[in-house]
Amino acid sequence: MSWFRRAKPANPFAGNWTCAGCGEVHQGMMDLAALAPDPWPHERIQEPNSAVRLDGDFLSEDFCVMDSRYFFVRAVLEIPVHGQAEKFGFGCWSTLSRDNFEKYLDGFDNADFANCGPWTGWLCNQLGTYIGTDPEGVYVYPQPDRQRPTLRVANPDHGLAIDQEQGISVEQLTEILRFYGHAPTA
Ligand SMILES: [Zn+2]
Repeated sequence: MSWFRRAKPANPFAGNWTCAGCGEVHQGMMDLAALAPDPWPHERIQEPNSAVRLDGDFLSEDFCVMDSRYFFVRAVLEIPVHGQAEKFGFGCWSTLSRDNFEKYLDGFDNADFANCGPWTGWLCNQLGTYIGTDPEGVYVYPQPDRQRPTLRVANPDHGLAIDQEQGISVEQLTEILRFYGHAPTA
């Protein structure tokens, strides 16, 4: 029996950690979330999901309608992080066609999306160095058990599609979080 233990690099996302960026205490793997699609022209004040309407402008936790003709759902884009059990999740908004948006609303309460998807949409939030102001084409996968739909970048050559496939290092994740004012101390 040896008392020698190999030194492991510290895991900045283990347990609770105090953020050198925003000063808050974050728990474990940190996710980022956008409260509305970037083109949303109003204050990001959310109505209840149950108040959803297809005309005019509407924003809730999970649904958004703009100008009676653009329909968005809150989704999550996951990126595996090497050496981490949890994936990094970017909470963001994708468009859906009106048809698919209505299907999503119909199935939402029971999370009943049998034989649904993947749908296509446009991711409408910027993400660090990956996605700028131009929307990016994505596949939208409805999930069971009232989980938010997951997104995959459609263009397999896009840097984000590659990183979704192969994962990123803790250092790369730290860079993304820094972009948003958070700073895990590695
Ligand atoms: Zn922070």
